[in-house]
Amino acid sequence: MQLTGGYPFWLIRDGLLNSYPKLLNNTETNTVIIGGGISGALTAYYLINAGIECILVDGRTIGLGSTSASTSLLQYELDVPLHLLKKKVGNENAERAYQLCGNAIDTIIDIMNDVGFTDYQKAKSLFFSMHRSEKKFMQQEFVARKEAGFEVLLLDEKDLKNEYTLEAQYAILSQKGCVIDVYSLTHALLQHSIKKGLQVFDRTSVEDIRYGKRPVIKTADGFIINAKNIINATGYEVVNFIPKGIVNFDCTYAVVSEQAPEQKPFWKNNIMMWNTDDPYLYMRLTKDNRIIIGGRDERFSNSFTRQAMLEKKSKQLQKDFNKVLPHIQFKEEFTWSGTFGKTKDSLPYIGVYKKTPNTYYALGFGGNGITFSIIAAEIIRDILCEKSNPDVKLFSFDR
Ligand SMILES: Cc1cc2nc3c(=O)[nH]c(=O)nc-3n(C[C@H](O)[C@H](O)[C@H](O)COP(=O)(O)OP(=O)(O)OC[C@H]3O[C@@H](n4cnc5c(N)ncnc54)[C@H](O)[C@@H]3O)c2cc1C
Repeated sequence: MQLTGGYPFWLIRDGLLNSYPKLLNNTETNTVIIGGGISGALTAYYLINAGIECILVDGRTIGLGSTSASTSLLQYELDVPLHLLKKKVGNENAERAYQLCGNAIDTIIDIMNDVGFTDYQKAKSLFFSMHRSEKKFMQQEFVARKEAGFEVLLLDEKDLKNEYTLEAQYAILSQKGCVIDVYSLTHALLQHSIKKGLQVFDRTSVEDIRYGKRPVIKTADGFIINAKNIINATGYEVVNFIPKGIVNFDCTYAVVSEQAPEQKPFWKNNIMMWNTDDPYLYMRLTKDNRIIIGGRDERFSNSFTRQAMLEKKSKQLQKDFNKVLPHIQFKEEFTWSGTFGKTKDSLPYIGVYKKTPNTYYALGFGGNGITFSIIAAEIIRDILCEKSNPDVKLFSFDR
C-alpha cells in the first residue's frame, strides 16, 4: 500500500535520521514487533523497559509509513465529539476513552523527557465552530467535557476574534495538548531502546506467519524468526494480516507554509485549532514558525487519484484557512497526502485477535493515532507481563 505521497514536512526537514541493518539470518527471540512506526517504537520502549527480549522489523526504512506523514498534534479529543461518542459506545466507555487519551499526553511527555527528546511543545487546543446553528452542539460538548473532568472554556465570537483573531462563532478551549515531530520521536525511541537491548531491522518485510503456540515468521528474503509472541504494529497495512472490515480508508492532505520571519505574534500560545466540519480543518504551528494546515479528507480509492488531487487539495486548504484567519498570509512550501484509517466508533483496535494466537495488535487508527499508540503499548505490556488492565475490553476486537 502506498501510504504517503508528496513531500511530508518532517521527512524533508529531518531526512534519514539513523540507519538500521536488514535481517540476513534466521533468528529467535521472545517477542517480534512487526512495524517500525510510532506504534512499534512505543511498544518496543514499553516491552524493553519491562525486561522482555524483542526484535523489531519493518518492511520499509524506519518511520517511512504513516508516521512520516503525520502532522503530529496530540489531543485528548477524538474524531467523534464526546457527547456523540457517548451515544455510540455508552457514557462510561466514551469518558474513559477521552480520559485515557488525556493521560496518554502526559505519559508521552514523560517518555520524551526520559529518552532526551526535546522537539515538543505543550499546546492548548481550540475546537471551533463557524456555524451559528451549532450553538447547542457546542454547549453539549462543553458540558460533556466538563463532566469528564477536563479543564475547558467556552468562547464566543467576540472572544475568538479578540484572543485569537479567529473568524468563528463558538469554540471550546482545552488546556491539554502537545505538538511534536513524531517521525523523529520514533527514531529517538528506537535508538534509546537499542541501547537497552532492542534489535531493529528495517527493509525486512514479513511475508508469511505460521500462527501457533510458537509462531514462525518468514521474511521476504527467506529468513525465519522464531518467537513466543508477535506484536502487529503494521498500521493500516494490517489489512494484509486480518480481514479488511475493521477499518475504512480515507485520503487526507496537509500543507506547510514557509517560515514566517517574525516570532509568532500572529499565533497565540502555540495553539492547535480544529473545527466541527466534516471533514474537519486543523492547524498548528511548528517550532521553526511555520503553519501546518490539514484536512479535506476524501474516501480513498487508490494512491494515484490521491496524488492527482494534491495541488487542488492544497489550494482548498489554504482557502479554508484564509476564511478563518484572513489576516495571516500563508505561503505554501510543501504539500503531502496520506492514507488515513477510521474505525466505526473512532476507537482503536488493541490486543488479541482470536484467529491469530500469541499475536497482539497495536493499531492506533484515526486522528488520535499517536495517543492511541501509547494506550496500545501500555495494554500490550500488561498482557505480556500478565498484569490485569481495566481497558482491554474497551479497545478489543470483539467489543
Ligand atoms: C497526513 C496525516 C496526518 C496525521 N496527523 C495526525 C495527528 O495530528 N495526530 C495523530 O495522533 N495522528 C495523526 N495521524 C495518524 C498517525 O500518523 C498514525 O496513526 C501513526 O503514524 C500510525 O503509526 P503506526 O506505527 O501505527 O503506523 P506506520 O507509521 O504506518 O507504521 C507501520 C509500519 O509497519 C510496516 N509494515 C507493514 N507491513 C509490514 C510487513 N508485512 N512486514 C514488515 N513491516 C511492515 C510499515 O512499513 C510501516 O513502517 C496522521 C496521519 C496522516 C497520514
